[in-house]
Amino acid sequence: MVAESNEKFELLLTLEGAALMQLTNERVLVCGAGGFIGGHLVEYLLKQGIQVVRAVDVKPVEQWYQTSSNVENLSLDLSHKDSCYAATGGMQVVFQLAADMGGIGFIETNKALCMLSVLTNTHMLIAARDCAVERFFYSSSACVYNADKQRENCATPLREEDAYPALPEDGYGWEKLFSERMCRHFEEDFRLQTRVARYHNIYGPLGTYEGGREKAPAAICRKVIEAQMSGQGEIEIWGDGNQTRSFTFIDDCLKGTLAILESDIREPVNLGSNELVTINQLVDMVEDIADVRLHRRYKLDAPKGVNGRNSDNSRIKSLLGWEPSTSLRDGLKKTYAWIESQMLARTAA
Ligand code: NAD
Repeated sequence: MVAESNEKFELLLTLEGAALMQLTNERVLVCGAGGFIGGHLVEYLLKQGIQVVRAVDVKPVEQWYQTSSNVENLSLDLSHKDSCYAATGGMQVVFQLAADMGGIGFIETNKALCMLSVLTNTHMLIAARDCAVERFFYSSSACVYNADKQRENCATPLREEDAYPALPEDGYGWEKLFSERMCRHFEEDFRLQTRVARYHNIYGPLGTYEGGREKAPAAICRKVIEAQMSGQGEIEIWGDGNQTRSFTFIDDCLKGTLAILESDIREPVNLGSNELVTINQLVDMVEDIADVRLHRRYKLDAPKGVNGRNSDNSRIKSLLGWEPSTSLRDGLKKTYAWIESQMLARTAA
């Protein structure tokens, strides 16, 4: 009995002792670096003077959204345990963002595929433990929240405790909730320091805007541009457009991600905007940016997710002083400009 409580005390001391961290010249691994957030994260860490040593994604390097020089870019399938050891060996800090994911159209029709990301998260946690990684960041999602709390369009902001009792988004949300839980128990049982952010709809340039995995802001930008290019003057909207969401600009996400990694916050924490809009208001904003008005055709049987979702940022604000600084309108302007440049360049080619 005494031995058990001493052990617990020692565990707490160890955890407390290593609670805060400031990245300087640690060896850092970014998983999912060929994707939207991971690619930006590598760039952001380099700009902060942090020596990112290794970037990994399952896609061939030439298909990554962005690559940085002075970084070891590796194409590895992290659902395999051996690849996780190869990626993690010699690293001190891991940002684990690799996942098979997409917008609501993708996650509602690929539930098994989304759940298979559990292989990646499991093997990455095991490799991080065995390679004595000092800190492990995991990108969870607002999709872990209980669906019963998201039935109304008015969307009471979700607090961290609203994830339980568990009723997350089927497939993708269950996998995220399970992997969050694994992070917690790897910390409790194996002393691997884990940090978990619950991202709320991150958007910005250099992300997916077509092909079926895109999320609402990029999809709406693309549809408005297509409507203008084709002259058809019409846009399709999934659902009745009254569903509400908040959207977080990538720059705010990156700052928050690093702050959470360096913090002593051991419970999952929201990283999101609380600027709530309906999808119709999102379309209004994009139309303003494009200086166009389009006829709206509502596809009521399309996947549309929960009726309302917003982020309660009380915890992250009080613990880290973090809150988003980019308005949706400003973030959309940058996103729209980038998507338009991509589409115009393709048309011109
Ligand atoms: P993304 O799809 O652009 O990036 C994910 C990357 O992971 C992709 O490049 C993909 O190729 C890679 N990947 C998938 N399986 C892999 C594997 N087995 N091995 C190695 N790489 C693999 O997505 P994103 O928007 O950049 O999201 C990054 C992370 O943040 C994901 O974990 C996602 O679930 C989470 N997240 C994102 C959002 C958002 O709004 N973008 C919201 C909540 C959570």
